[in-house]
Amino acid sequence: MTKVLLTGGAGFIGSHTCLVLLETGHQLVVIDDFSNGSAEALRRVAELAGLGPWRQASAEHWTAAEPGGGSLTLLRGDVRSPRDLDRAFAITGGGISAVLHFAGLKAVGESMTQPLRYWDVNVTGTVQLLEAMGRHACQTLVFSSSATLYGTTDRVPIPETAPLQPINPYGYTKAAVERLLTDVATSDPGWRIALLRYFNPVGAHPSGRIGEDPNGLPNNLFPFLCQVAGGRRQHLEVFGGDWPTPDGTGVRDYLHVMDLAEGHGRALDVLQAEPPQMLTLNLGSGHGYSVLELVRSFETTNGLTLPYAVVERRPGDSAVSVADPREAERRMGWRTRRSLADICRDGWAWQSANPQGYGSNEGQPTGALIGAQQVS
Ligand code: UDP
Repeated sequence: MTKVLLTGGAGFIGSHTCLVLLETGHQLVVIDDFSNGSAEALRRVAELAGLGPWRQASAEHWTAAEPGGGSLTLLRGDVRSPRDLDRAFAITGGGISAVLHFAGLKAVGESMTQPLRYWDVNVTGTVQLLEAMGRHACQTLVFSSSATLYGTTDRVPIPETAPLQPINPYGYTKAAVERLLTDVATSDPGWRIALLRYFNPVGAHPSGRIGEDPNGLPNNLFPFLCQVAGGRRQHLEVFGGDWPTPDGTGVRDYLHVMDLAEGHGRALDVLQAEPPQMLTLNLGSGHGYSVLELVRSFETTNGLTLPYAVVERRPGDSAVSVADPREAERRMGWRTRRSLADICRDGWAWQSANPQGYGSNEGQPTGALIGAQQVS
């Protein structure tokens, strides 16, 4: 049982990863500023993991624990703040042995209009985190990277050795952090670092209690499609029907968020069990589905009809993006286990049970944790 810090652990992928790690008995500390995550998500994670009630230890800090087992401590804070990071490392008495770094901004369009913000949060935030890890003698890090690094390549499937050619500020910040972590690992052979390049994480925990809750209009296909199914949006716009693909719509590698969360658990296990090293791995299924195939699977699985209209291509999109995931299987025995139908079923279970996502609790940890017991 190890103690792990998750930055951005209240977001979509972070919250599902918290659940997977709690189920294997880890002690977790989450630092999140709730800019795109929800304290309510973690309240539900604690409930799903069978932890005891939340206890509010200070205005900014809550804990839920199970006697003799896992625990989840939530701290409101910013990864760019050395003070907040020091608090996160110290808050449960120290002893954090690894960090999973999810905190970051991820909307491509927004990154083009607010590049400084993206460089600050994604790159400066990581520099601050590495400094804090140095102060607290922690040298194990799992970083949320992205297939966006591969840009608009024609290669199918894409191996980790493909050239990195990001095409927007978001992608540049991910490439910069990968470079930074490579330099850090080279400077000191004690580091254990995994760069996990996600393809298209979608779906939700099968309970329907936690899932993706984007701020405002979803940028990505799957949450948009879920909101159309739920009647929150009128119809789906399919970006381009003339791509060089079998049905003319874009092909992507969709992976179930629980498979992705389990991938983080495996990466952590491998980093902690093996000698120091740097792992660079694609996390994807290796299968590509077009927009229309995803729409049809969602309709068939859930007995629904999704209205859609084919419109112009979205600038910056590529025809096909599919992972070659063999290296992840070889290095850590991981591959996706859940199907496209599982994704559609679980995504809809979440959306239909939570039409407004986590609702008004977003960004309001105190409100979200009403019922938390106050301790000294
Ligand atoms: N897409 C679409 N309509 C939308 C959002 C996305 O047709 O409202 C398409 C997009 O062109 C791409 C696929 O769905 O072919 C996946 O897009 P998403 O933004 O989810 O992921 P990414 O482009 O980052 O792989």
